[in-house]
Amino acid sequence: MISMNYNFVKSDVLVIGGGSAGLRASIEAKKRDVSVTLVTKRSLGSGSTAVAGSGHACVLPPEYGGNPEDSLKTHFNDTIEGGCSINDQRLVKFLVENGAKQVLELQELGVVLGYVPFSEAREKPPGEGHSFGRIIRVDGGGGNLIYSLTRKAKELAVEMKEDIMIVDLLISNGMAKGAIGFNTKSDSFSVFVSKATILATGGAGQIYPLTSCMIDGTGDGYAIAYRAGCILQDMEFVQFYPWRLISPPLYNESVLYDRVPIQSNVFTRGGKLLNSQGERFMEKVDPSRKDLTTRDVAARAIYNEIKEGRAVNGGVLLDISEISEEDFLSSDRRYSLFKKRGVDIRQAKMIVAPEAHYFMGGIHIDENCETNIKGLYAAGEVIGGFDGANRLSGNALTMCQVTGRRAGVQASIRAIEFEETPDIKEEAVSKKIGEVQSYLKEGKSFEVLRKELQKLMWDKVGIVRTGHELEQALKRIEGLRVELNAVGASNYQELKGTLELRNMLCVSEMLTRAAMLREESRGAHYRLDHPKRDDEYWMVNIRISLRLEKMILLKAPAIDLKGQ
Ligand SMILES: Cc1cc2nc3c(=O)[nH]c(=O)nc-3n(C[C@H](O)[C@H](O)[C@H](O)COP(=O)(O)OP(=O)(O)OC[C@H]3O[C@@H](n4cnc5c(N)ncnc54)[C@H](O)[C@@H]3O)c2cc1C
Repeated sequence: MISMNYNFVKSDVLVIGGGSAGLRASIEAKKRDVSVTLVTKRSLGSGSTAVAGSGHACVLPPEYGGNPEDSLKTHFNDTIEGGCSINDQRLVKFLVENGAKQVLELQELGVVLGYVPFSEAREKPPGEGHSFGRIIRVDGGGGNLIYSLTRKAKELAVEMKEDIMIVDLLISNGMAKGAIGFNTKSDSFSVFVSKATILATGGAGQIYPLTSCMIDGTGDGYAIAYRAGCILQDMEFVQFYPWRLISPPLYNESVLYDRVPIQSNVFTRGGKLLNSQGERFMEKVDPSRKDLTTRDVAARAIYNEIKEGRAVNGGVLLDISEISEEDFLSSDRRYSLFKKRGVDIRQAKMIVAPEAHYFMGGIHIDENCETNIKGLYAAGEVIGGFDGANRLSGNALTMCQVTGRRAGVQASIRAIEFEETPDIKEEAVSKKIGEVQSYLKEGKSFEVLRKELQKLMWDKVGIVRTGHELEQALKRIEGLRVELNAVGASNYQELKGTLELRNMLCVSEMLTRAAMLREESRGAHYRLDHPKRDDEYWMVNIRISLRLEKMILLKAPAIDLKGQ
């Protein structure tokens, strides 16, 4: 048993999460001269941003590669169409209108953007779902985005706290007053007291066994917000990236992040997907677009080939024989890495399969990025509403910048308005720490349950769903929640794993219940027993909240711009 000692960390603004959204939020808050603490579960750069392709979608001026025929209205319409018309239109408008400005502002924060002039950009086809090419990338990818924003945040004296897992928020009188966390390396608790708090904890891809999401992506922010009384929405919509390269491997086993998502531009250059019988199955699935279809259609098609026994070594074959070596190497920098490792990727059999990639759902916010709890803001992938039922490529990172900035500004305004640091009740802190410490005991390992949950979610709440399987999944999730009580952690690393599992179970339950309720197919949510989109009954968002210790799901009409 450990002692009840903990240290207090006071700041005006607390930012939980050090990805693209959290870093931008902390920089914007700090610029307004308030004290800012930023907490991350592992080291900075351990979220999805660091491994992202770094494409930001926005309507760019021609000198940055933008098409003069493009417009804010077209980006707005593309995003709503991609989201199957249940996006929160207030958020889409806010994002589209501020996208280019705030992405280009990254240059003032030390980020180098690798834009191409319009004349060259014109040669390239637009990304999936976009009417025009409107993607601008960070030079050197997501790793450089994190590196540059971290440098800026440090220069501004943002207090950085790494290796701290935030467990829960401190809420009293309906207001956010900080959070409780523990340091996984020094085995100590910290109580963060703040006038405003920003959740920027990223997604939850880790609830599935195959994901492009980094290991921090266990959905902590969704579960923390839910337990605190926030409203969440659209949790049934998970984007599966269709083309994860599962062989040949690019890295050796010592590498923490070994996933290689194949970029869709390989198909614009002539790449083809083939099943074990050598059939180009996408010709049947989407005769006009074939392999260049949207991500949800491609993921489902590949999943079906695997499920119906036409897989090649667990995936499908990516045939690139018609692409010239030069063309191929120029389409993705990782192909050159293969070459450096001595693997001739054009000779090797490339096998691809789908993986969980991105959570469209999340915390319900207003245009100021504030949640239904006063003083609690959210930014980045942890929010819901912007994407609707499906996300367009490049929209997530732009959304991180726009919501990160807005959340940072609004949190600092609130902090300036409140002169006094909030008072924290000792009993509330002791109760929460006691709850967490109760897992420090002898017991079962969390790892076995975690693996079982991941497999269950993949098999029954994955790319293709049925009411019957969703019911089976829910029953087992409830069983696993009971079994969690028998889990014991012998150190703080195991405690982290155990509490992550608690959060993963909470997210899985929200997802499964919402998927059961939505008896139609829309965007990334596909029900084999309700295969059609039903606009008469389902132009709604499913909102989830905790009321009297029960998970409550309500349908709410999608928010449009009528009257604005
Ligand atoms: C391989 C890949 C490629 C992608 N490419 C693109 C692209 O090109 N364009 C695009 O628009 N989108 C892309 N995406 C999606 C996009 O990268 C993510 O949606 C985005 O980076 C999320 O940023 P974030 O700041 O919200 O969260 P993240 O970058 O995931 O950061 C989350 C942070 O929260 C911290 N955290 C989590 N839980 C806790 C806790 N309990 N306590 C303390 N800290 C915590 C983590 O440590 C981390 O610092 C890609 C995603 C992947 C996985």
